[in-house]
Amino acid sequence: MKPVPFLDLGRLHQAIREPLDAAYRRVVDSGWFIMGPELEAFEAEFALYCEVRHCVGVGNGLEALHLLLRAYGIGPGDEVIVPSNTFIATWLAVSECGATPVAVEPDIATHNIDPELIASAISQRTRAIIPVHLYGQPADMDPINALAARHGLIVIEDAAQAQGARYKGRRAGSLSDAAATSFYPGKNLGALGDGGAVLTNDAAIADKVRQLRNYGSMVKYQHDLAGYNSRLDELQAAFLRGKLAVLDAWNERRRQVARQYSRLLANTGITLPVVPDHADPVWHLYVIRSKDRNALKSHLEQQGISTVIHYPTPPHRQRCYAEFAGLHLPVSETLASEVLSLPMDPLMDAADVERVVGETCAGESARVRIVQGL
Ligand SMILES: *Cc1c(COP(=O)(O)O)cnc(C)c1O
Repeated sequence: MKPVPFLDLGRLHQAIREPLDAAYRRVVDSGWFIMGPELEAFEAEFALYCEVRHCVGVGNGLEALHLLLRAYGIGPGDEVIVPSNTFIATWLAVSECGATPVAVEPDIATHNIDPELIASAISQRTRAIIPVHLYGQPADMDPINALAARHGLIVIEDAAQAQGARYKGRRAGSLSDAAATSFYPGKNLGALGDGGAVLTNDAAIADKVRQLRNYGSMVKYQHDLAGYNSRLDELQAAFLRGKLAVLDAWNERRRQVARQYSRLLANTGITLPVVPDHADPVWHLYVIRSKDRNALKSHLEQQGISTVIHYPTPPHRQRCYAEFAGLHLPVSETLASEVLSLPMDPLMDAADVERVVGETCAGESARVRIVQGL
């Protein structure tokens, strides 16, 4: 029985071992490790890829969001609208600058923030909206941007899971005032360590983030802002340049895996991902829903198939957000209890997908038989 890993980064990196080795040698031989030519080159290449004017490399995705919020002057007393069912970093970035996250429920079909529910969450204190392109599928940005324009709000995309995705033909990360992304190793474009970036067409915001990431300094030993140390280092930038060269090919493989999943799992009673016409997703995750998710997960585990739950506990139910424990957010609570991410790896082959599908159906039909008392 061949195991199917969730994502085998070791094997993926074997496939591009030469450019990674070359990146390592360039940086080691240069003797320059922070804020140098690799970062500058990667920022230019990734800005071009994302179809924006400016890319600023930072320490990680959480910091990309946080520095952007600070660059826009968001702080104590302000409210920022966030999805109720995102990875907790989206909320933590808001809390980190002293502002308050205001949760809006997702559309149950796409799992992305429901634009129609945003209006009623806007108050006098609202400053910004952070839509997340969850699982690599762009949120419905046009109505969100229109609403933000009417209320004078900033829109910041959380594009951590969506490198290469498109919305109505345009790149995720280029669809609003600014975007934050993450190069955590498991993302579609992952570093070999932590990393992140800010994307924007606004030169002033890009400069502000450049300043904030480097102790609030633009000129060495001159500090006009109380900043941070949050930089994308030369080694990670060099690795990312090598990996950016294969991002489109690996995203295309993810699309093929997703297509095969969707074809083979159609009409099996399992709730599958829904892709609206406006979205060309990059399948960071392939997320199904099952009423007895935990049993299905353990069945797959017993068959050597690794799955992950994204995410088992919504932010408002985390202990660190005890102040929101009274919130009732039924859509994200339902999703948290039913979602299961199937293996998604650019190097999976058709036989791997068939095996995952076969065991997923076996696990589900056992459940259905039990429920029906057969
Ligand atoms: C990964 C992720 C982040 C945080 O990125 P890090 O680099 O891990 O800090 C933020 N938002 C979303 C949606 C993510 O998936």
